[in-house]
Amino acid sequence: MIFDLHCDTILKIYQDNTQLKTNDYHISEDKMKKAGSLAQFFAMFVDMQKVADPYVTCNEMIDVFDREVAKSQVIKKGTAASDIAEDHITGIITIEEGGVLKGEMKNLLHFYERGVRSIVLTWNYENEIGYPNYEFTYKDKGLKPFGIEVVKKMNELGMLVDVSHLSDGGFYDCIKYSTKPIIASHSNARAVCGHSRNLTDDMILALKENGGVMGINFCSQFLDGSYLSKVSSIVEHIKYIKNLAGIDIIALGTDYDGIRCDLEISDISKMAMLKQALENEHFTQEEIEKIFYKNALRVYRDVVLA
Ligand SMILES: [Zn+2]
Repeated sequence: MIFDLHCDTILKIYQDNTQLKTNDYHISEDKMKKAGSLAQFFAMFVDMQKVADPYVTCNEMIDVFDREVAKSQVIKKGTAASDIAEDHITGIITIEEGGVLKGEMKNLLHFYERGVRSIVLTWNYENEIGYPNYEFTYKDKGLKPFGIEVVKKMNELGMLVDVSHLSDGGFYDCIKYSTKPIIASHSNARAVCGHSRNLTDDMILALKENGGVMGINFCSQFLDGSYLSKVSSIVEHIKYIKNLAGIDIIALGTDYDGIRCDLEISDISKMAMLKQALENEHFTQEEIEKIFYKNALRVYRDVVLA
């Protein structure tokens, strides 16, 4: 089974007016079925510099998600921890860009009511919540006052705070202010690949202490800086993180349909390639299951209300 913490497939469907059931993307209903998916986070990714009103665009994307899931026999929308079950695939709405809240708490409640259960607090722009880690420009900048309020409200509502893309200072503020485990849905180890989107050893250890997880991102830029996403590079990050902080922190956050590099694991239906590679490196079945879905499920159940 697979619990993937990040993909941008809904953006593609929204832009191309295509469908989730069958498509040419990394993720479709058919491919998820083949993969044995248990749950999938579908990010509503909004590029604030390209849209007139990020709040409106985000709502339109949720409309698309709801439309596609309503047509499906296999995928059900998950809003409660107990919605995840083995007899179907659970699709969970997340937001990638806290700027869609436009600095207003009532908009957080609105998106919660629409089923959003996790928010990547920033993308690559500064917003009302905090600062991105884009090119380390704002590395040590922390959360803004509204950001701290958002973290507290997300804790209260049962939403996962997602620190991928956030400045290092913002990450530490989330660790400080969140009373629940947090996630870095699609970030790797900075010691293995020195990109600002990845987490330092100290951050990984703080995340371990917090009880959260980090989803391994398949983008080659964040794996080894090359142009091909290689299984061996994914395994290298997993081995490094396991050695540093243990197996319980590692999950998957493929970033499928949000990355443009060539991929050895060319879509989600081919995920058995990663399982095989981990077996070759003597990972136990229990360890592989933790990476593939159990760790993500643990954190989801810790935070999202039953
Ligand atoms: Zn992203």
